[in-house]
Amino acid sequence: MEKAFHHEVDVLVAGGGIAGTLAALAFCHAGFSTSLLDDGPPGIPGDEYRQRVSSFNLASEQALRKLGVWPLIARHRISPIERIEVRDNASSPLVFDAATVGLPHLAHILENDLVSGATREVLESNPMFQQVGAGRATDIERNPDGLIVVAADGSRIRCQLLIGADGADSMVRRFAGIGRDTFDYRQRAIVTRVFLNGAHHRIARQRFLPTGPLAFLPLADNSCSIVWSMEEGMAGEILSLDDGPFCERLERAFDIEPGYIHGVEPRTTFPLRRTHATRYTADRMALIGDACHTVHPLAGLGANQGIADAMALVDTVDQARARGQRFWHDRVLARYQRSRRPQNSIILATMDLFHLGFANDLRWLPEIRDAVFSLVDHAPVIKRFFITQATGRMP
Ligand SMILES: Cc1cc2nc3c(=O)[nH]c(=O)nc-3n(C[C@H](O)[C@H](O)[C@H](O)COP(=O)(O)OP(=O)(O)OC[C@H]3O[C@@H](n4cnc5c(N)ncnc54)[C@H](O)[C@@H]3O)c2cc1C
Repeated sequence: MEKAFHHEVDVLVAGGGIAGTLAALAFCHAGFSTSLLDDGPPGIPGDEYRQRVSSFNLASEQALRKLGVWPLIARHRISPIERIEVRDNASSPLVFDAATVGLPHLAHILENDLVSGATREVLESNPMFQQVGAGRATDIERNPDGLIVVAADGSRIRCQLLIGADGADSMVRRFAGIGRDTFDYRQRAIVTRVFLNGAHHRIARQRFLPTGPLAFLPLADNSCSIVWSMEEGMAGEILSLDDGPFCERLERAFDIEPGYIHGVEPRTTFPLRRTHATRYTADRMALIGDACHTVHPLAGLGANQGIADAMALVDTVDQARARGQRFWHDRVLARYQRSRRPQNSIILATMDLFHLGFANDLRWLPEIRDAVFSLVDHAPVIKRFFITQATGRMP
């Protein structure tokens, strides 16, 4: 006998990270009754910086503005990037400057919880949002007229469309029977925040070392977030260092004068894997964000891809409904996959090329890299291409 359900919505989003909260808000904006399941909102950060920060490009800023979230974000700690400098061990830096392409900034460094917390606040005040059920999605059942999702508190919610925004280990993806291609970079990213004896001038700096990329990302109070990727054995060694030796090692790696870093917060690490779902959709289900793909953080694109997925999915589904089509139908969802998969595939492949081209000590590579850096720096068309990728839109 079919089990009853307690609530009914058009769209249910599993996962309240950046991609999930934004998708839920965009669905509400488009007039779909929407609910969201997760452990509970992290909330907008207070005085203490949260360690997980990301670079949000102009396309993501535009999406957050369109949904009315940006003004709330802008009232908190935001850190614009006006210039990006990329270098390897040998060559002079490759520079991307906002001013030279007529932009006030290229991106912002924001705490992940600020973006998801602010989006959640705006979401909760939207009349199309229904908070039904509490905790994560624990089970999914098929029903003749939709899917029934069981929440951790036992609530049963029937939806027409289920969005899997539940991160890299997505339960929705597994339930849908969607496989994924995986490549283990055998690297870890060490993440921390450092305090400098000097101004960062809103410049994001990245250095490609033979051991992996190292980025200094400017934060609001003249500190920097560090993302230092390296192979797993080396990460274990670096993580065992106390604050002083850690800072010295970091200064040496980044080739900055001893003593320039005068403080560091505790370190955390993340394993680095590229994953890509073999399909983005299945019967009444669609994947977005890390549930669909994960990418090396060297270009700071993962969260931006998740936001772009969410916007594209809502747009596709909304257009279908406006044409009188069943918005959850396979043919509609296939359009979403067609709109996002090529772009995501390009990003994943480009990150692999960067990883292979830089995280390696072959003798002839520096000369080739030098030539490529010089070519990109002096060819406006190619530079424009890179700026388009970094900002997520044409300048
Ligand atoms: C070191 C590092 C640096 C990075 N830097 C950048 C950067 O500069 N720029 C950038 O764009 N990206 C960056 N990224 C990538 C970015 O952090 C991620 O792509 C992004 O946070 C993923 O967001 P998401 O919402 O898809 O998934 P997640 O943040 O993983 O959120 C998934 C949510 O789903 C919830 N969940 C899990 N299971 C369930 C369930 N069964 N039911 C309901 N909810 C569930 C979880 O609680 C979580 O809240 C970086 C990543 C790393 C590791």
